[in-house]
Amino acid sequence: MGLIVQKFGGSSVATPEKIKNVAARIIKEKQNGNQLVVVVSAMGDTTDHLIDMARQITDNPSDREIDMLLSTGEQVSISLLSMAIEAQSEPVISLTGAQVGIITNKVHRKARIVEVHTHRIQRELEAGKIVIVAGFQGLNENDDITTLGRGGSDTTAVALAASLKADVCEIFTDVEGVFSADPRIVPDARKLDEISYDEMLEMASLGAVVLQPRAVEYGKNHGVPIHVRSTFTDSPGTIVKEVGLLEKELVVSGVTCDKKVSKVAIMEVPDRPGVASQVFTALANDNVSVDMIIQSIKRDGVNDISFTVSEEDLKKAVTSMQKLSDDLGAKGVVYDMNVAKVSIVGAGLGGNPSVAAKMFKALADLGINIEMISTSEIKISCLIQERFADQAVQGIHDIFELGNGTSS
Ligand code: ADP
Ligand code: ASP
Ligand code: MG
Repeated sequence: MGLIVQKFGGSSVATPEKIKNVAARIIKEKQNGNQLVVVVSAMGDTTDHLIDMARQITDNPSDREIDMLLSTGEQVSISLLSMAIEAQSEPVISLTGAQVGIITNKVHRKARIVEVHTHRIQRELEAGKIVIVAGFQGLNENDDITTLGRGGSDTTAVALAASLKADVCEIFTDVEGVFSADPRIVPDARKLDEISYDEMLEMASLGAVVLQPRAVEYGKNHGVPIHVRSTFTDSPGTIVKEVGLLEKELVVSGVTCDKKVSKVAIMEVPDRPGVASQVFTALANDNVSVDMIIQSIKRDGVNDISFTVSEEDLKKAVTSMQKLSDDLGAKGVVYDMNVAKVSIVGAGLGGNPSVAAKMFKALADLGINIEMISTSEIKISCLIQERFADQAVQGIHDIFELGNGTSS
């Protein structure tokens, strides 16, 4: 008998009908003789709707109350899914993150799991039950509910698979696996049979929302292979695992796009030692993660410092920079929400300078201006205007011939 952890995303449980289909799929797996722990996300766009409702109440809800609100979405889906399984006379129990004992740090809205207790789940499995767990949520040391960041149910599933030493962790979603680009943007994107943790981590961090980056990191650290596959078919998906160097023959594995980024610039700051440190210390103190950074050299002893942050953190970043701008005697702060970051990811990028040239050519051929560039061993990213993002992804995908050869 095997132990399987499965996770069903929001689109897989978007309606009562879909919940019944998922229930049937789970029961079939149980009848194959396996023990099952199933992590579920909130139904459809529930999480977005809950955030929207909070905004209608106030512009500044506290992060604690946001977590209290958002965690309700997953509680709805675990209870409905359990009812659907009960209705087929299979023993089942639903558990919240707190009931399982998923312990996180104190950072609301993007908490990290620090400990997973398994005794409750183990007891229920031994009693022959299917265990349905609310994804995306945990409990911190103050006994407050936390959430794990958007897409966090993936991380719940991988963390449970690691702690329970499950045979496999299956992430069921609305596409057939991980593709060379988002198949909704690039129709001829190719499904990857397997991908290394490092490449997947980079793709996920750069906008491939099919897996939460933290889930990939957790999988890598604990050696949990992750099988990303479709809820609606039986075909094999993509296995995320450690891939040996020799097996990596592709230079570019995928193209990604993140539209949820914003550019912030603090204008005409004095050009003296310590200024950059003040800027980024202020952001770090407010828990704002900064991505691309550019400091321009200017005349008359002043610079502009520009950087990108997630759209979620924009307000905090601008408030923090406005205060600092006054303190430093800078000219002020400007920001742009209408930008997007397009990236290529691949294990062999570091040693291959012609790859960057080719990516920039794809953008140039489309007449798209590059506002910022950042590179690492495993990726190259360009910041462009958001309205060109889909075109850019398709153009870059084409120039590297990543598709099935069916695009026009
Ligand atoms: P779920 O609700 O199952 O968690 P998500 O919406 O979080 O689903 O993730 C699945 C979506 O990820 C797909 O519908 C697809 O549009 C998007 N996606 C982005 N990049 C990729 C990629 N490279 N491969 C597959 N899917 C991708
Ligand atoms: N429901 C949460 C979200 O929409 C968590 C998840 O779906 O993984 O982000
Ligand atoms: Mg998701």
